[in-house]
Amino acid sequence: MALHTCRICGNEKENRTYNVREMLHGTREPFEYFECSDCGCVQISEVPPDLARFYPSDYQVYKNYGRRARNRTRRVVDSARVGYALSGKGIFGRVAHALLPELDYVEWARIAHVGRDDRILDFGSGAGKMLIRMMQGGFRGLEGADPFISGDIHYPGVTIHKAGLDEMIERHEGAFDFVMMHHSFEHIDHQVTLMRQVARLLAKNGRLLIRIPVVASEAWEHYRENWYSLDPPRHLYLHTQDSFRRVAREAGMEIFHTVYDSTGTQFSQSELYCRDIPANAPRAARDIFSKAQMKAYEARAVELNREERGDQAAFFLRRPSGQDA
Ligand SMILES: [Zn+2]
Repeated sequence: MALHTCRICGNEKENRTYNVREMLHGTREPFEYFECSDCGCVQISEVPPDLARFYPSDYQVYKNYGRRARNRTRRVVDSARVGYALSGKGIFGRVAHALLPELDYVEWARIAHVGRDDRILDFGSGAGKMLIRMMQGGFRGLEGADPFISGDIHYPGVTIHKAGLDEMIERHEGAFDFVMMHHSFEHIDHQVTLMRQVARLLAKNGRLLIRIPVVASEAWEHYRENWYSLDPPRHLYLHTQDSFRRVAREAGMEIFHTVYDSTGTQFSQSELYCRDIPANAPRAARDIFSKAQMKAYEARAVELNREERGDQAAFFLRRPSGQDA
């Protein structure tokens, strides 16, 4: 296979290359990416053989969330308002629901028809921040899996396995009503195989949520090499709707709903990269941009999400009807 053959659709013609630098930690190590002229997927030209080197142990997802897990007030409030949001029951929950902004996972649960007793897996969970938030919202069947944590983690009501996909399939094939991948899918090579394997964890009528950066966005068109979500070399694939749909189809899945959920970060962080400032620099975006500017970035993100031009999306997938295992 030629160096610039699209690993999603096989096209090798007129694929434009970009030279991008590592800017999350600011090592400025160069990596080449290319944009497929057919399916639009932007991908790293060569997957580094030593990817683990780019995930230092202080990588932000590997924190310990024990304290947060034991926060009782939060649990009482969130569990009541999520209960109200999903069932329309409970007076205290109704008040809390009216006063507080809706939780992201409530929207996901509604779209995917997932209840609080369903068995849910966050694959690539890190130390489990999302799971702990959902546990506080009253979800009871929560598990996580991540091959890169130091060992199994147990919080009250949440178990996180130190396990990769193969081990999870061996132990839990067909077990989960809902499998989520939050910004981990783009970090893994062999996208079709990956999705096919993840789908094996789903129960009959199971739903899959994959949240990824998307390249068919204003931020990519405007910032190109300085686009924050490229995150070289950790992000191997930046999909368009089209390229992601191809992956789904080949993996025997179909997208039944999409929610754009990009944030102001697509502007503030990309602007930092334009100024040669790494994401983890002490002079964070908040010190450089005024409050009004940060607010304007957030507002623009909301607008772009509505137009399906934001740089992140949540894809909801299922097996095509009639093909449930
Ligand atoms: Zn392609």
